[in-house]
Amino acid sequence: MSELIYKSAAQLSESLAKKEVSAREVTQAHLDRIAKVDKAVHAFLFVDTEGALAQADQVDAARAKGENLGPLAGVPLALKDILAQEGIPTTCGSKILAGWRPPYSATVVKKLRTAGVVILGKTNMDEFAMGSSTENSAYGTTQNPWDLKRIPGGSGGGSAAALAAFEAPLAIGSDTGGSIRQPAALTGTVGVKPTYGGVSRYGVVAFSSSLDQVGPCARTVLDTALLHEVIAGHDDYDATSINAPTPPVVAAAKRADVKGMKIGVVKELSGDGYESGVSERFEESLEILRSQGATIEMVSCPNFDYGLAAYYLIAPSEASSNLARFDAMRYGLRVGDDGSRSAEEVMSMTRAAGFGREVKRRIILGTYALSAGYYDAYYGSAQKVRTLITQDFAKAFSSVDVLVSPTTPTVAFPIGEKSNDPVAMYLSDVATIPVNLAGVAAMSLPAGLSEGLPVGFQIIAPAMKDDRLYLVGAALERELAAKWGGVLTTKAPKLISAAGA
Ligand code: GLN
Repeated sequence: MSELIYKSAAQLSESLAKKEVSAREVTQAHLDRIAKVDKAVHAFLFVDTEGALAQADQVDAARAKGENLGPLAGVPLALKDILAQEGIPTTCGSKILAGWRPPYSATVVKKLRTAGVVILGKTNMDEFAMGSSTENSAYGTTQNPWDLKRIPGGSGGGSAAALAAFEAPLAIGSDTGGSIRQPAALTGTVGVKPTYGGVSRYGVVAFSSSLDQVGPCARTVLDTALLHEVIAGHDDYDATSINAPTPPVVAAAKRADVKGMKIGVVKELSGDGYESGVSERFEESLEILRSQGATIEMVSCPNFDYGLAAYYLIAPSEASSNLARFDAMRYGLRVGDDGSRSAEEVMSMTRAAGFGREVKRRIILGTYALSAGYYDAYYGSAQKVRTLITQDFAKAFSSVDVLVSPTTPTVAFPIGEKSNDPVAMYLSDVATIPVNLAGVAAMSLPAGLSEGLPVGFQIIAPAMKDDRLYLVGAALERELAAKWGGVLTTKAPKLISAAGA
């Protein structure tokens, strides 16, 4: 197996620029890796072998001509199947979109192409991004490369597993309540949910529009920053996109310095309910930050206790409305259209056959919460909680520069353990959800292992201060890599080796 797969995007970028290696060689090495390990991992729903090699050849030709290329030109990437890519199957993990090939590309996809990033294919996810384990995909579960009997997190488990299995150095995720950060935590990778409005959502299948945000995933903090800078920025096609310069995330990742920074530990996001191994890695990381010159203090955000409940009213409500567009007329699947049935019957048969259990559960919940007579009690109350949580953040950020917590209460759990207990599954996102409700920015990075499985450390920054995530993340990563012998970023996880790869 080519050593190229173990390189970071930043290292590949340097070798490509020096012409020590071609984009085609780098791309081929990752396609070979996918061919070898993806049967065991199932990170990809679709691998675009020809398209990827053609993109790589274009980059090589441009470089040969001496064209000025961006830092990620020729570096491969795995794309979450929630983003539309022209002509490429886009399912969002759902049967209802089977066979759909979008006639256009998402703004993020266009930006990646312009930057010369090579898109290897589409990654597996929970159906319509609803879930925390990838078990809700209509196309089978993704296995965690650290232990193939465990889930890789969700909904972006495919993107995170692709990174952890060294099938790609970069990936794109989307995060409505934790779907970038929770899989990052459970696979020992880095994931960032940018400030709401920092990255365009045009061409991203909508789940809960007031919470959804696209973001970068990688194995190192610097790689994540390089990708963040490529995909971020204002877009006229997304009305929620912020018209302001992207925070200097790459410069921050390179500076990696926390001296004099004030870091707040969120009281409500630690202690009870968090596994001891998770808490131990969290405390060790705090100690490192302290030794690097940051001051650490405890901060209380009392309304976070209601975050999960508010999220499970707001997200399903918005989803019930967004998913109305899957009506058997416009996309993919159509069931029962034999000439004998009304449009309404075909619609209902298609939705019954095309949506999975969790998606149906959310549509029913959301429709109920929005119905006349219940709207104020449920949706209205949830929106009030959302305001209180936003105020908790504002108060906290008036005294500290960033907030921190463990990303998830537990390490990766066994496949099947929570699939019949929605509430237990929902609890995986207890520490990530408040961030989406307030629209602020957050990162998860690996803080070490607990019984051989990765633990995630979450950093939260105020809106449009995403650079602070990278400042703190990169400083912490430097010490952690030394402490853990680089196991989190440079070696293939044990079980992938055991799987014969
Ligand atoms: N796990 C959460 C949910 O099921 C968050 C999903 C997400 O961020 N897309 O809704």
